[in-house]
Amino acid sequence: MNAEDVDQEAIERLYERLTREAEEGGYHLNPDVPFTKNLVRGLIVNERRYGYPSCPCRLAMGSRERDRDIICPCDYRDPDLDQYGACYCALYVSGAILRGERELTPVPERRPPMAERRAQEPVLPASSLPWPVWRCRVCGYLCARTHPPEVCPICRATQDRFERFL
Ligand code: SF4
Repeated sequence: MNAEDVDQEAIERLYERLTREAEEGGYHLNPDVPFTKNLVRGLIVNERRYGYPSCPCRLAMGSRERDRDIICPCDYRDPDLDQYGACYCALYVSGAILRGERELTPVPERRPPMAERRAQEPVLPASSLPWPVWRCRVCGYLCARTHPPEVCPICRATQDRFERFL
C-alpha cells in the first residue's frame, strides 16, 4: 500500500481521537476543520512511512532516535502555544485563538539545528536520590523510578519521550 493513500475513514478516526485527547488534556485542535484534517492525514502518512507520527510540517530523518523531538505532539508544542498561541503546524491552538481573541500568525521554527540539539544533550549531575528522576519531554511530568513509564500517564507520550532529569 502506498503511504500516501489514506482513506477518509482513517482520517476521521484519528481526528476524533486527537480532538478528544486534546480537550481532555486542556488543549484545542485548530477549529479550521479541513486544514486540521489535512494535518491529520500527514500524521497518518508519516506513521506509515517511519513507524511513528512525526510532525507533518517538518522533514523527518526516518530514525526514531533522531526524530524523537518531533513526534507529534512535539517537544516544542507547549512553548509555541505559550508564545504564539499555536504549534508550528497550527494543529494545536490556544484558547485565545479558538475564541477569536487572538490572531493566528506564522510560528517560527523553534527546533534547533541537529548539531545544536546534540550539544544540548544534558550532562547528568551526580544524584543522591535513591531513584533516577525522569521527565516527560512533551508535558513535563516528573517521576522517580528505575525506568520511565511505558506511557506518560498525563499526555500518553511513549517511553522514549522521557529524559533523565536527575
Ligand atoms: S508542530 Fe508539533 S504539535 Fe504541531 S503538528 Fe507538528 S509535531 Fe504536532
